[in-house]
Amino acid sequence: MRLTMPAKRKEPTAHVHSPAIEDYLEQIHNLIEAKGYARVVDIAGNLGISQASVTNMIQKLDAEGYVVYERYRGVVMTEAGKKIGQEIARRHEVLTRLLAGFGLDPETVHQDVEGMEHHISRQTLDVLTLLMEELEGNPELLKKLKRKLKSGV
Ligand code: ZN
Repeated sequence: MRLTMPAKRKEPTAHVHSPAIEDYLEQIHNLIEAKGYARVVDIAGNLGISQASVTNMIQKLDAEGYVVYERYRGVVMTEAGKKIGQEIARRHEVLTRLLAGFGLDPETVHQDVEGMEHHISRQTLDVLTLLMEELEGNPELLKKLKRKLKSGV
């Protein structure tokens, strides 16, 4: 079994990827980071979707040049797919750390991050990354802000 050569593949047409596509690429990225590979069964488990739906979507992602799907090896990401997967995972991490730092309950953090991660520009993410880093390095300030938050904004 050989990888399809990238030259023969359709180039992903651009910035028009849906939240669903981003969630898949994020998930595949995370699985590959954690386990070294991404199988349909694991993607289905993590996203809470049937394996048949996942297989459909993976074939679509393959046709669009984001992944290469091999029945026995699982899902391999192309450079284009990796770029998006990494970016969404980065947004997810920054947003989660920023909000969790304020002590919000994990369910709220998760819900909000899953929405926001698809709609945030690089510039805004840079601002939030700076804020997160400053706050993590300044527990006094964070404590002060949390007190204010508790007493009502
Ligand atoms: Zn996410």
